[in-house]
Amino acid sequence: MKPSWVFASNNPHKLEEVRSILGSQVEILSLSDIMCQVNPDEVGVTFAENALIKCKAVAEFTGLPVLADDSGLSVTALNGLPGVKSARFAGEEASDSDNLFKLLAELKEKEDKRAHFTACICLYIANQKPLFFEGTVHGIIIEEPRGGEGFGYDPVFIPDGYELTFAELGAEVKNTLSHRKMALNKLLASGVLNL
Ligand code: IMP
Repeated sequence: MKPSWVFASNNPHKLEEVRSILGSQVEILSLSDIMCQVNPDEVGVTFAENALIKCKAVAEFTGLPVLADDSGLSVTALNGLPGVKSARFAGEEASDSDNLFKLLAELKEKEDKRAHFTACICLYIANQKPLFFEGTVHGIIIEEPRGGEGFGYDPVFIPDGYELTFAELGAEVKNTLSHRKMALNKLLASGVLNL
């Protein structure tokens, strides 16, 4: 029987991606599946700190293992910004599109378009040390959004080795090479499912 883990995120896109990557091996429950409404402040300064904050907030509502993802885009010409602030780059209440257009405005005059996504996945099991797995994918930021799939900065990010954005490549391709996939590959390789 598959183990059941709760995914500590209110982001339906992340939930879908994690289910598509891990779903054959783990039953991934959403917060609404366990009737949990939490939205903890992400006050950490690293992806790992924020992933742990999310896990702990949800672990108060369930005895099941909790999985969290904290992720973001780091742009070389912006000294790593927006980084951990990716979801709030244009302000606390900013939408994905507000954040994306702020990024394009800040990059307009910059020649260096390199960027990478990072995902830190935390697996939190009661009375055990939390486990962390980090994945990255490198690429470039283009000047105008392209493609209708995905979320966040997907329409402006072209991964190295491709000519299409994540939003054009779509879930099937994105989920084979994304930062989230790389982090979850490490989780699977750690043998945590065999314990
Ligand atoms: P958080 O992990 O909830 O702090 O938010 C992560 C933010 O980083 C998202 O709101 C997006 O702006 C951005 N982000 C993280 N992963 C992705 C991705 O796979 N595609 C596009 N944007 C992403």
